Amino acid sequence: MKNYSTINEKIQKLRAGEISLKSNVEEFLLKISQNQKLNAFNFVFEEEALKNAEIVQEKIKNGNFGKAAGVVVAIKDVLSLKDHPLTCSSNILKNFEAIYTATAVQKLIDEDAIIIGKTNCDEFAMGSSNENSAFGNVLNPVDNQRVPGGSSGGSAVAVAAELCDVSLGTDTGGSIRQPAAFCGIYGLKPTYGRVSRFGLTAFASSFDSIGPFTNNVEDAASILEIISGYDKNDSTSSKTAVPAYSEVLKLKPGSLKIGIAEEYFGQGLSPEIKEQIFLIIEKLKLAGFEIKEIHLPHSEYTIAAYYILTTAEASSNLARYDGARYGYRSKTFSSLSEMYTNSRTEGFGKEVKRRIMLGTYVLSSGYYDAYYRKAQKVRRLIKNDFDEVFKTVDLILTPTSPTTAFKLGEKSDNPLEMYLSDIYTTSANLAGIPGINIPIAKDSAGLPIGMQLMANLFEEEKLLQLSYFIQNELIRKS
Ligand code: GLN
Repeated sequence: MKNYSTINEKIQKLRAGEISLKSNVEEFLLKISQNQKLNAFNFVFEEEALKNAEIVQEKIKNGNFGKAAGVVVAIKDVLSLKDHPLTCSSNILKNFEAIYTATAVQKLIDEDAIIIGKTNCDEFAMGSSNENSAFGNVLNPVDNQRVPGGSSGGSAVAVAAELCDVSLGTDTGGSIRQPAAFCGIYGLKPTYGRVSRFGLTAFASSFDSIGPFTNNVEDAASILEIISGYDKNDSTSSKTAVPAYSEVLKLKPGSLKIGIAEEYFGQGLSPEIKEQIFLIIEKLKLAGFEIKEIHLPHSEYTIAAYYILTTAEASSNLARYDGARYGYRSKTFSSLSEMYTNSRTEGFGKEVKRRIMLGTYVLSSGYYDAYYRKAQKVRRLIKNDFDEVFKTVDLILTPTSPTTAFKLGEKSDNPLEMYLSDIYTTSANLAGIPGINIPIAKDSAGLPIGMQLMANLFEEEKLLQLSYFIQNELIRKS
């Protein structure tokens, strides 16, 4: 259907009059309705998207248009868009509408992107399979019996099934990279603070980041360039200058040193994924890249530290859903405290309640030192591991997930097993560093295999450069 492969090419074709934006948006809307069973969207803004298509088309005609003119974007339903529903796929926010727009979304709108809808996700972004959503499961477009990954499952599917050009997701412990891996697309988690979190519903504030899902590296670079930057509304957003990512994608083969950590290739990793990644490593060597064995000795503690610290932060962040201020309020209560209890009991889903309880426990007096404080110390040790390694290499190459997309229901009764599927992605969030998923191959069942690259803080350029090389020289040519 699409007669362009990157968003920049689309913009050129729009300018040349080779694409009508209205028909393009109509085609996406049709495709969304034809693919309703995938359940990728919580809300589709049909009329508004069509109206905006006309406005942007006009702007293009007049020659005053932004860097994302006509790019059709879907956003995860944890991101605010003023006067539109913001549910976080939770019953507790069922009828809630955002009263302002997230900075990352506003930056896209300011560059004339068209927001086509809000995508399904795990409730409050807690999950790895998109099965924890009050809007129901999302299906993997490659195999409908399988999960798309989570928590940004809908955003990944929207891009993989070509229901939009690009989408935004959020990544607290892998929620961009893992669904990108399961759906066979690119997913970029920027450095913590690279993209403003203003308007992103908080899950674990010291971990949360917003990033793009795309079908190619060029689009990831273009979108990152637009959404990055300091924002006075987020004190943790960084003032580090934003490079023109999309203009610096080319690298000299062999110019980057790549680290491989044995801790990321151990027990539990699917042999097929391992094999495919090692094929890429061999090709990188042949292309002249130096591959160095490295060690990240505290890797075995990442899942434990992640699930202690993020649940602690979540228990605090989610205290605001009390039935009093906004969102769902129970119909049955006879005292204020019963109103709180019933609203939260009825409004939150099972996984969210599990996390609130876990987080409250690890923060409670008597357990604080044993769990929360200790996990904070482990977080520092994990960060130190990365600091050490980045003295000798530019990038770290790992699998994104230990398996390809698993079956719906396969892990939903076993939270621990589900948590273990985040084993390779949570470390980047603990350390605050950027990571990307690159779709490198298919397994014998035809399911996408993802590979992850991680870089030091604010070195997204290197991530994108090597990804671009791999995309063009190792994947497309093979
Ligand atoms: N799967 C992880 C979790 O359940 C990561 C979620 C995320 O990145 N939002 O916490």
